[in-house]
Amino acid sequence: MADFIALSTAGVQQLKPYQPGKPIEELERELGISNIVKLASNENPLGPSPKAMAAARAALDNMHRYPDGSGYRLKAALAERLGVRAAQISLGNGSNDVLELVARGWLCADDEVVFSQHAFAVYPLVTMACSARPLPVPAKNYGHDLEAMLAAITERTRIVFIANPNNPTGTWVTASALDRFLARVPKDVLVVLDEAYYEYVEESAYPNGVTRLAAHPNLIVARTFSKAYGLSGLRVGYSVSSLDVAEVLNRVRQPFNCNSLALAAAEAALDDVDFLEHSRDLNTSGLAQVAEGLEQLGLSYIPSVANFIAFDCGREAMPIYEALLREGVIVRPIAAYGMPDHLRVSIGLPEENERFLEALGEVLG
Ligand SMILES: *Cc1c(COP(=O)(O)O)cnc(C)c1O
Repeated sequence: MADFIALSTAGVQQLKPYQPGKPIEELERELGISNIVKLASNENPLGPSPKAMAAARAALDNMHRYPDGSGYRLKAALAERLGVRAAQISLGNGSNDVLELVARGWLCADDEVVFSQHAFAVYPLVTMACSARPLPVPAKNYGHDLEAMLAAITERTRIVFIANPNNPTGTWVTASALDRFLARVPKDVLVVLDEAYYEYVEESAYPNGVTRLAAHPNLIVARTFSKAYGLSGLRVGYSVSSLDVAEVLNRVRQPFNCNSLALAAAEAALDDVDFLEHSRDLNTSGLAQVAEGLEQLGLSYIPSVANFIAFDCGREAMPIYEALLREGVIVRPIAAYGMPDHLRVSIGLPEENERFLEALGEVLG
């Protein structure tokens, strides 16, 4: 038989598949236990907004029809909310889809893509899938070093990815740091500002990428309904960009890359302002609860503005991850992000956070 791995493209040969958080059902099967707490994928512990659920249920009746491939209603609602034109918005099957569309739209073999050490794993994934070259730049205190990222740009660089805040570290860049960066980045280099956790951040110096679009036609802001809006399972995200950038994304996307349930639920979720506020408040108090608990256990952690915290186990984290699994608590190992001594825990309901902290205390003995 031919060696089809060796026959795959140069970039794909070097790719390692993305490792998602362990599903609850899988751990149930493996251990034969129930009452499992999953704090591994930065999901909204409140579940989906009731309004989104009602909209998705109503959309079931038309499941035999193709979705609106233009996403007219959701784009119109987003455009109004964000103060941009609907044609600046590109929808995706999750915002990961949009990240991939950017790569497909602009990357050829041997083009370069700049991002930070410890940044979201999907950036090297979409880069290497196009056989382009990933250029990870050393982080500073686990956060993006935007000065060093600027210095890493060459004439081969097509895209810079900035995760703000970053997953899995929870670090963020300030408005002034971002603006200094945008003022100096070459005008023909695309800057993808990944704001997947935008809705959670409560820092006054945290920048809103959308307000920078008018001054920077090379900027692409990516957001999602997977996190604060609680719709991870439906897969819907979007980008906001200049019209020309949106035109390219529209050319390379699949015609129906956002399904009809996702479109309906996202539109309703956008309207559920109370749910979003409750989600944010719950997260802010949960961050404090988990941070305090980690301190009491004598563990250091990276201060986070998102809905998760990466903490330092002070030794190899994998055995602690596995021991937590046996206690019925799923967190996320992040050795693949160059952080073998850290684990990432998502903020859950207060009782879930408590259960995690108790289990961690047990495991650490
Ligand atoms: C969760 C996450 C996303 C969003 O993924 P979806 O495809 O929208 O579910 C994007 N970027 C980062 C950094 C994330 O952590």
